[in-house]
Amino acid sequence: MFRINENFLKLSAGYLFPEIARRVAAYAKENPTLASRIIRCGIGDVTEPLPAAATDAMRKAIDDLAGRENFRGYPPPNGYDFVRAAIAQGDFRSRGCAIDDDEIFLSDGSKPDASAILEILGTGNRVAITDPVYPVYVDTNVMAGNSGSPRTDGRHEGFTYLPCTLANGFSPELPTQPVDVIHLCSPNNPTGATLDRDALTRWVDYAREHHALIMFDAAYEAFIRDESIPHSIYEIDGARECAIEFRSLSKVGGFTGVRCGYTVMPKALHGAASDGRSVALHGLWMRRWSTCSNGVSWPVQCAAAALYSPEGRAQTRALTDFYLENANLLECACESLGLAASGARNSPYVWAACPKGLSSWDAFDLLLNEAQVVTTPGAGFGKCGEGFIRISAFNSRANVQEVARRLTVLAPSATR
Ligand SMILES: *Cc1c(COP(=O)(O)O)cnc(C)c1O
Repeated sequence: MFRINENFLKLSAGYLFPEIARRVAAYAKENPTLASRIIRCGIGDVTEPLPAAATDAMRKAIDDLAGRENFRGYPPPNGYDFVRAAIAQGDFRSRGCAIDDDEIFLSDGSKPDASAILEILGTGNRVAITDPVYPVYVDTNVMAGNSGSPRTDGRHEGFTYLPCTLANGFSPELPTQPVDVIHLCSPNNPTGATLDRDALTRWVDYAREHHALIMFDAAYEAFIRDESIPHSIYEIDGARECAIEFRSLSKVGGFTGVRCGYTVMPKALHGAASDGRSVALHGLWMRRWSTCSNGVSWPVQCAAAALYSPEGRAQTRALTDFYLENANLLECACESLGLAASGARNSPYVWAACPKGLSSWDAFDLLLNEAQVVTTPGAGFGKCGEGFIRISAFNSRANVQEVARRLTVLAPSATR
């Protein structure tokens, strides 16, 4: 009989979003009169329409495909040159980062990239993961065979966990045991915290000294407003030799359903073969793409490039400003209730401490049952997420204002 990939059997059973969906569906079924009051601030999906620059570009691209003259078939596997150039210039060279057009690899999003990248790395790498964490880094590494068995606390043998807590300002400390691959995310999902220049410099220096690889997820870069926070890891000297950056248009341009993201693979980045040879990852990544993918569709690439036009820039700025104002309303509501909260300032998430005595699932259930508000329990993002809930600011203004009012069920007088 044929064999399966047994690494899948090591995935921990805590299916966060399905469990949330199950509880919400059960509540709606038992309380049919209240079901229409439910407001979802759980999953991090956008709610506002795409910027007009993107939809206009897509319409025009569809017309191209409808005629003989401008018809396009297979795209180049790594993206059209004009798109890669717009990205390299708009996101990197304009910020002083020396990134070439051919170091940009267009894809259908960061989530697929997070798993694809593991195909070009060897087995047996020691992986460091922050806690709490975007679950995709954990599960893709488990599937790739980089972990041992799951433990009862939801963690896996074989990973090095880097706690992000109120005490360290949600900025992970350097590992005390050797690691080969480090997953970082700033602005962070779920905590909303950012890594400042000093923190990122420490990580880059560590990675260079230990020949480790940093996988830097900057999906929320467009929400940074604080001038002192780096937008890219390549703002740090030496990062070209040790870091891959992941970007997504999902949150900046509302592309969660359109699907487009990219990786930055610097040509200076080298890994080791088992015979000790130093091999550039750039060539492997290019080979991986040309073999396993036929790239991103013409309408989507046109829409992606349009986000970098002056109109596109202004529109994505307005869009991210809108969500940041939502986040600010939610954070103020938490603070007025005396709940410590991080995020919101450079991120569309509020990471709020649960009122004393409540676990994160208790707080989730309380908000669902008493306020019909869906959040994400912090424990679902890792052991160190216990005692927190994540509230997403991706919603309409009216819903956010209503949620801010309903959060009062978390007031100390309202809970035990
Ligand atoms: C939303 C998100 C992404 C984007 O994923 P896509 O597949 O591009 O939609 C990447 N990383 C994190 C941490 C996210 O929250």
